[in-house]
Amino acid sequence: MYSVLNPADEQLVATVEATTADEAAAAVRRSRVAFESWRDVSPGDRAMLLRRFAEAVDGDLENLAATEVRNSGHTIGNARGEAANVRDVLHYYAGAPERLLGRQIPVAGGIDITVREPLGVVGVIVPWNFPMPIAGWGFAPALAAGNTVVLKPAELTPLTAMRLGELALEAGLPPDVLQVLPGKGSVVGQLFVDDPVVAKVVFTGSTEVGKAVMAGCSAHVKPVTLELGGKSANIVFADADLERAAATAPYAVFDNAGQDCCARSRILVQRSVFDRFLELLEPAVQGVRVEDPSLETAEMGPLISAAHRESVSSYLSDEAPVAFRGSAPEGPGFWFPPTVLAPVRPVDRVAVEEIFGPVVVVIPFEDEAEAVRVANASVYGLSGSIWTESLGRALRVARGVESGNLSVNSHSSVRYWTPFGGFKQSGLGRELGPDALDAFTEVKNIFVSSEGAT
Ligand code: NDP
Repeated sequence: MYSVLNPADEQLVATVEATTADEAAAAVRRSRVAFESWRDVSPGDRAMLLRRFAEAVDGDLENLAATEVRNSGHTIGNARGEAANVRDVLHYYAGAPERLLGRQIPVAGGIDITVREPLGVVGVIVPWNFPMPIAGWGFAPALAAGNTVVLKPAELTPLTAMRLGELALEAGLPPDVLQVLPGKGSVVGQLFVDDPVVAKVVFTGSTEVGKAVMAGCSAHVKPVTLELGGKSANIVFADADLERAAATAPYAVFDNAGQDCCARSRILVQRSVFDRFLELLEPAVQGVRVEDPSLETAEMGPLISAAHRESVSSYLSDEAPVAFRGSAPEGPGFWFPPTVLAPVRPVDRVAVEEIFGPVVVVIPFEDEAEAVRVANASVYGLSGSIWTESLGRALRVARGVESGNLSVNSHSSVRYWTPFGGFKQSGLGRELGPDALDAFTEVKNIFVSSEGAT
């Protein structure tokens, strides 16, 4: 048993039984047995069960959201959106079982077709920053394609995932088709990597652990999808709508207290408007409402844990060029005010490492070429934004930045019907959108001879 704390007040929220390695191995074997019949559930019935699951999530939305506020410190507005995202992703992939199309390829002497086979047991390893959506992005397409799922939530944030497991059963999914196994990454997560019965691992988390997961999976030639860290650039050109760019920039990095792999945590500003941009940014940052996340007005809550607050604080040494900060509540809870560091050089540690907290660096640049060069001076490449009124520049820079998800004159968040994933050390493979099913199926080619007995 271990304790789960509310990061906003450090009070005990629940105690949770940690799954042991033996229990996880047994769950994987039950999952494999369940797979034999789940794969044969007709496409229409599988779709219907996923829709019922989506409706069950919808019916429980307020409870799921309130649970996330207590367990993760997410603002109530965000938490509702996250539960709704699970519902919507389930509905989206409920359309998939009946559309898992193969091809017919012309050949001589018969017919050649391709079919998409499910992989078997899929292990999904979820981090603490978005417990509900990241779980759903794994299990919804995996189940739709006919796989069964074992899911390990982060140790710190297991409660909503456990509830989603119950809702799946209430919706009529057969037992063991989706099992939620709270516990340690080094035990349950590692078992998903090492156990040959697990056919695929979907991992979201730190680049460091992601590399170890990939290395471990290579021993079995086990496919992996990895969604890892980020240090995304928000590039503001002199010809941009500076008021809008400055007003929106805080939300592009401080949402979820900066604990977001897509956080635009490097703001690159053209030198000719650098000072003006900072003038506009200051009131925008100070206007971010950092408060009890259960309040409807809250825009930012606490960090997830004391240890994580320590880690974020370690970036604010005496030499850190703090330009200005927002506010945060005093007293219990893992609070940290929004913090802007400026001017920062691209090589500074704060500009290079993923801080994963409400700290943003502002870096000046001269011209378009330098903007692209600085944006790409990172091992990561997950998301980013480009602010300019020039369509040509927007397109050139969007093509030049090495990143999986870019938005122009906006900070678009992840849309479940478009692909999401990273370049370079931000990950491997794509989640969501129409192509995610490729990551949960193997293509089988079948040739049927038309020769022989008449
Ligand atoms: P981790 O990468 O350690 O954790 C992510 C998930 O992996 C958790 O469920 C964790 O379990 C599990 N895990 C840990 N070790 C193993 C292992 N050996 N094998 C399989 N699974 C494992 O991230 P942290 O929570 O420690 O966060 C550290 C940093 O990572 C953050 O500060 C941030 O920079 C980055 N991060 C990035 C995220 C992203 O979305 N890109 C998400 C979360 C973190 P357990 O809960 O038991 O640790």
